[in-house]
Amino acid sequence: MSSLAEARAAALAREAARTASREAIAEQRKSDWARPRRSTEELRALAREGEELFSGSGIGAVDEGSYDQIIDWVARTFGYRTAVACSMADAVLPHTVQGAIPWVDVLFLETGYHFAETLGTRNNVENSMELTIVDVQAAQSVAEQDTAHGKDLWSRNPALCCQLRKMEPLTASLKDYEVWITGVRRDEAPTRTNTPLVTFDEKNGLVKVNPLAAWSLDELLGYAAANNVIINPLLNDGYPSIGCQPCTKRVAPGEDPRSGRWAGLDKTECGLHV
Ligand code: SF4
Repeated sequence: MSSLAEARAAALAREAARTASREAIAEQRKSDWARPRRSTEELRALAREGEELFSGSGIGAVDEGSYDQIIDWVARTFGYRTAVACSMADAVLPHTVQGAIPWVDVLFLETGYHFAETLGTRNNVENSMELTIVDVQAAQSVAEQDTAHGKDLWSRNPALCCQLRKMEPLTASLKDYEVWITGVRRDEAPTRTNTPLVTFDEKNGLVKVNPLAAWSLDELLGYAAANNVIINPLLNDGYPSIGCQPCTKRVAPGEDPRSGRWAGLDKTECGLHV
């Protein structure tokens, strides 16, 4: 067989294996989505259960639960009513979840303002991992937003731009899930130092889990290297925190990793995690 034919056969075998793996979880996914969504009070009680199980003696204590214990609890408790948020700065968080919940939904906020590298990372993740990527889009395209609010809203009113392109679409997309998993880490910013491992998200009305909260950036990169996980090439090009292109600048070595986000503006968070 020629090397071209061998490569083609290998690609076909890989695709067949992915299809079989997706089909293997289809019944479980269907059954999890067939039951009614738990009530707010039931979800609040499950958030309290998670807090009790994993918070140990408090934020940063050595007896806090580990990421894999927490993800295992999420898989057993919520199954496919779970959403994983991913900015495509790296695929570490989805990688930690895909073993417990294969083909879990991964929500990617497709704001229309991403770096080409971020969109490339999104496509690599979709084509190589056992995940279901869901592009979460704003009600208006960028062109429609320009017409309604004037061009480059991000430069004049980034709070409104984030509200329209990130927060409102995310809230709408979370309404049928029971839990969302985020990659928020305490070392990312002073606003994140008290991030709990499990909590109830009052704003969106579901359980919120932050299994990597205690990790440092080095631990994250170490996990990625050890497990051959896709990372956005910008991470190694001066962008330790990656958001929309117009609102993300390069950061000098040793600077606050998030100082490149909305640089020069009185804004440090898009609002998703505050
Ligand atoms: S990060 Fe910037 S471009 Fe992206 S939604 Fe927020 S303000 Fe708009």
